[in-house]
Amino acid sequence: MTKAEFPSAFSNAPGQRNIDLASEIERLRKERNAVILAHYYQAPEIQDIADFVGDSLDLSRKAAATDADVIAFCGVRFMAEVAKVLSPDKTVILPDMNAGCSLEDSCPPEEFAAFRAAHPDHISLTYINCSAAVKAHTDIIVTSSNAEYIISQIPEDKPILFAPDQHLGGYIKRKTGRDNMLLWEGSCIVHEQFSEKELLKLKAQYPGAPVAAHPECPAHILDHADHVGSTSSILTFASTSGADVIIVATEPHIMHQMEKARPDKTFIGAPGADGNCNCNMCPFMALNTMEKLYASLRDLSPRIELPEDIRLRALKPLERMLEMSPPSNGGRNTGDLSNIAPAQLEV
Ligand code: SF4
Repeated sequence: MTKAEFPSAFSNAPGQRNIDLASEIERLRKERNAVILAHYYQAPEIQDIADFVGDSLDLSRKAAATDADVIAFCGVRFMAEVAKVLSPDKTVILPDMNAGCSLEDSCPPEEFAAFRAAHPDHISLTYINCSAAVKAHTDIIVTSSNAEYIISQIPEDKPILFAPDQHLGGYIKRKTGRDNMLLWEGSCIVHEQFSEKELLKLKAQYPGAPVAAHPECPAHILDHADHVGSTSSILTFASTSGADVIIVATEPHIMHQMEKARPDKTFIGAPGADGNCNCNMCPFMALNTMEKLYASLRDLSPRIELPEDIRLRALKPLERMLEMSPPSNGGRNTGDLSNIAPAQLEV
């Protein structure tokens, strides 16, 4: 949707009113009793008006804990679905329903169900970047911050199916030495854009500047990283590192929070093949704009709706994740797999 589709709100034509988007969003937030969530990869102006800025699971959990009637999720579709799974009684809106994710797209539910059916002796761990329908087919959901910890609780001789991110899966496989991990071949189109050659040039230009990278990056980028971790952990590293200059290998909008937290430091986005970080902006996240956020709050549309059976089946592996995550990661960490039965394989 473009500005042209909102003439009454944005046109300067006679008889039509101009509005202050930030004020109108604020008015609608109150009227709708809405909570506005912004992922770290959203544009700065959206981050700055959000109630919470964070990574996908953290945002959904924070929103679930509020008494808001409406969750406006400025992120991508799978994130808003997680919010709906955790908050079925709240209205969840996504400013642009086309905000998808290449990892989600790489893993259609029917193909994933067939993959699982072909490996009935494997336990299935699935990165949270997938559709609710895929979650409904998996045993345990993981995030980039808890995947290694959760895998460490799975018996060494138990084979694992890891989907959909081959780079996160490969990183964990290398770190844990688990050779019995079978990886789905999905990837993030954003993190795949980083150029090793350009990164090495940048490192030579800024000797001593540490590289903080997200594990969705391919191995040839992670090999040059001083810190590998989730968006939240990269943010913490950037804020607490003793270095004055830090090279950041993830979606560059996260640097907005880094610059707010540590204006005394310099953050440089890792380059793509053209030598700058512009090609590493997520095109899906960029679909959300202030105009669309305003319109979605005004119209309470587009909404995330999930069939109740899918929602309940997607909730189970999310709950299992929390059972196996440490309290420091918001989990309950029983580490007990005895009651984790393979998920239903039927669609
Ligand atoms: S940055 Fe990559 S993983 Fe994140 S939403 Fe965009 S395409 Fe998906």
